[in-house]
Amino acid sequence: MIDDAPSRPCLGCGHCCLTATCVVGLQLAGEVVHRGVRRCAALVRRGDRYRCALIEAGRVPPDQLAIGAGCSSPLFNAARDALAAAARRKP
Ligand code: SF4
Ligand code: SF4
Repeated sequence: MIDDAPSRPCLGCGHCCLTATCVVGLQLAGEVVHRGVRRCAALVRRGDRYRCALIEAGRVPPDQLAIGAGCSSPLFNAARDALAAAARRKP
């Protein structure tokens, strides 16, 4: 829910964090170059999902990064679409 409007759930596709490192990430983790592309050093892959290592480690409260608020980038997001399709196929 964002501003009382329903939102789609975060599926951990990583698109938002891969597009731009948030201010908290820049301050606490910095960036690394991965396969020629700069990205947040706190972004970690867990299976087929991305996670924020700062949240996992308890260094940042989830609400500071809007965790649980829903997806910030659901449109034209092929990575999220693929995870949503895979979830629909699961029995
Ligand atoms: S991984 Fe965490 S700190 Fe890095 S950009 Fe994403 S939310 Fe921000
Ligand atoms: S783009 Fe949406 S689904 Fe993907 S990690 Fe960001 S908030 Fe979650």
